[in-house]
Amino acid sequence: MQTRFSLAQLADPKVADAEKILRTCVHCGFCTATCPTFVLLGDELDSPRGRIYLIKEMLENDRPADAETVKHVDRCLSCLSCMTTCPSGVDYMHLVDHAREHIEKTYTRPLPDRLLRGLLAVVLPHPGRFRLALTGAMLARPFAGAFSRFGEAGRRMAAMLALAPKTRPSAVGPRPGSLFPAEGHRRARVALLSGCAQSVLDPGIDAAAIRLLTRFGVEVVMAKGEGCCGALVHHMGREADALAAARANVDTWTAEIEAGAGAGQGAGGLDAILVTASGCGTTVKDYGTMLREDPAYAEKARRVSALARDVTEFLATLALPVATDTGLTVAYHSACSLQHGQKVREEPKRLLRAAGFTVVDVPEAHLCCGSAGTYNILQPEIADRLKARKIANIEKTSPDVVAAGNIGCMTQIASGTDVPVVHTVELLDWAYGGRRPEGVV
Ligand code: SF4
Ligand code: SF4
Repeated sequence: MQTRFSLAQLADPKVADAEKILRTCVHCGFCTATCPTFVLLGDELDSPRGRIYLIKEMLENDRPADAETVKHVDRCLSCLSCMTTCPSGVDYMHLVDHAREHIEKTYTRPLPDRLLRGLLAVVLPHPGRFRLALTGAMLARPFAGAFSRFGEAGRRMAAMLALAPKTRPSAVGPRPGSLFPAEGHRRARVALLSGCAQSVLDPGIDAAAIRLLTRFGVEVVMAKGEGCCGALVHHMGREADALAAARANVDTWTAEIEAGAGAGQGAGGLDAILVTASGCGTTVKDYGTMLREDPAYAEKARRVSALARDVTEFLATLALPVATDTGLTVAYHSACSLQHGQKVREEPKRLLRAAGFTVVDVPEAHLCCGSAGTYNILQPEIADRLKARKIANIEKTSPDVVAAGNIGCMTQIASGTDVPVVHTVELLDWAYGGRRPEGVV
């Protein structure tokens, strides 16, 4: 694609990067067929190619975002299905990240939208605040239907309440600052990100990951000072907040990495930084790019990103033994952030099969479930349609249980089906001697 940026514009490294990405797009349109919003809405402007044009126009003309561009960029799930399909290797992820930052700086959203986004940004990344908000949401949940009568803002509020769990999650989960020694000979030492929303919604996921890892000789540290990865605010274009979260985590893990590497029991250092929520994993793997212009952090962030692994990606390197057949059929839901963002596709399924489960693929597995961070709150109609489509596809496989590697997908899918939805590591932990995941019979 030809571009017309001036030299003055290209002096800004972010614009220069965006221009390079734009030039790789050859308008072929292959990406449209696998874009969930184009599949649903059929509008070229709700396809990757259409959005690329809108972003090009906005950046090239150095103009503030307009309502039309904001509408179509907001409808993008950042599922990155287009990146898997694109034959030219267009880096849509970093292009849309830049567009969102530009929108946030140049566009004044209507007041209700600003208030809701502000609320999500100050509550979700902080487990204490989120826990309190969740208690309120659980109480208000029965009235979700009433809210939906009050226009767009009411529908968003209803969507938020509908996602609240029916029962209070266990308050006790592994906390930052904890160390879990390996059982027997130590094979590796890893940091596990506890993050924000998942640690409140389902602390059992990290507990299962720790049991499984330590049982197979891996020491797990939950580094003191780590917190939200920054993904939630990053996808809202709040770049300063996202970078602050990234820097805090980079500092925390750098201290662990430099605490004295060595193979012996009791030595520090890190062999990997593990993430059990794939949406967060995609962001941690991107810290090196997010902080590339910061001389104090660029190198440290690159090192952190190079160590980041999805938990299943790391488990696949441990050669876990083949377990006895459980007799259960698992529909594996491949989270977009895992399959498209991190290209981790086969490892979770191979691990589940070796652990004694029959694994079935979900039809249209490349299409997003509609969760996408805060998307199911900010774009409830599209998110609901994608959820219904995903659940219909899952139920076609008649599974005993659904496994996924991302808390957002788990919450979204569980809100529309009676089939139990659990994290992949919960099934693996159970198969190798741990607890049976709640709801699985
Ligand atoms: S990220 Fe997903 S929703 Fe956005 S343009 Fe690409 S395929 Fe479409
Ligand atoms: S598939 Fe790639 S090159 Fe083709 S239109 Fe889409 S983004 Fe551009």
